[in-house]
Amino acid sequence: MLALTDVSVAYDGVVAVDDVSLEMPEGSILAVLGPSGCGKSTLLRAVAGLEPLTSGSISFDGRVVDRLPTHKRGFALMFQDGQLFAHMTVARNVGYALRLRRRPSPQRVDDLLSLVGLEGYADRLPATLSGGERQRVALARALAVEPRLLLLDEPLSALDAGLRERLAVDLRKILHAAGTTALMVTHDHDEAFQVADQLAVMRAGRVVQSGAIDAVWSAPVDEETALFLGYARVLSGSPAATVLAAVRSGCERPVSPPSLALRRSALVADEHGPLIGTVESARATPEVLRLVVDVRDVGLIDAVAARDSHWGPGQTVRLSVDPARIARVGKSEQSRTTA
Ligand code: ADP
Ligand code: MG
Repeated sequence: MLALTDVSVAYDGVVAVDDVSLEMPEGSILAVLGPSGCGKSTLLRAVAGLEPLTSGSISFDGRVVDRLPTHKRGFALMFQDGQLFAHMTVARNVGYALRLRRRPSPQRVDDLLSLVGLEGYADRLPATLSGGERQRVALARALAVEPRLLLLDEPLSALDAGLRERLAVDLRKILHAAGTTALMVTHDHDEAFQVADQLAVMRAGRVVQSGAIDAVWSAPVDEETALFLGYARVLSGSPAATVLAAVRSGCERPVSPPSLALRRSALVADEHGPLIGTVESARATPEVLRLVVDVRDVGLIDAVAARDSHWGPGQTVRLSVDPARIARVGKSEQSRTTA
């Protein structure tokens, strides 16, 4: 198990990672999610032993690794752009670390290539592969020596959207199949949700919330976190009272305090809802009609309606809340602040 205790890292006195404490169970996949520049890569590099700590301590399986050089930690690193050896075939790239340790094993290389879905690619050169295939090779190479911890720095960010989504799902399957404990950093909430089971939200060098991914998702610690997790709107203060009333009618238990995050299209246009608004715009998608509705005292809100309904700009609609698509914003038992 990896444990970080009050870890800080500074560059020339400027703090990049600020008093971070995290624990991750063996076999889990933890995503550290945060905007660009918040200190994700620095944190990962510190775990790898590539940046010295200014304070705090890192341990694995109960043993402090702070003084161990990178190659003695038993961790493997994989970057955004894979960084394959251009002059080596796929098989030689994957087997690199095994040869380095004088344990070459063509069988293990074959097994790894099939694990990442690249049977038959052994003799290809990196230049002949697609971006997604290159990342699979990089992953196989990182897994070759069975690292006790795999560190992934934005492993899918360089890929285009469709491919990123497919590889994210594969990445999760491959890591679980190999039983690898993995710490991944990313700025992309979709990527984090597709790959990880644990989540730590980072902002300005600090971890502001961490826990099981569903727990964090269903109760973001504050508005900024909710928005960063992909919620469309956060309603707080008095204008939210109207929406709260709607939520009360849609939920079994009343929701409080009055700060709510609405997932995109948390509101459904229907005949009976307690919220009344005017349609600003309507756009048909293959599944639903997407509406932007101006609700009095609340402002513009995204909503959905049945595909065959005929709402249009200027019309008055009633909205009700889909309780599955809202979250309470604020501190919960699962969340933890470093404040
Ligand atoms: P992220 O990976 O979240 O985008 P980084 O960990 O790369 O963020 O950077 C965190 C902060 O530390 C940024 O302000 C960045 O400019 C700074 N930083 C990163 N690497 C260095 C370095 N080698 N020297 C000085 N400052 C750095
Ligand atoms: Mg980075």
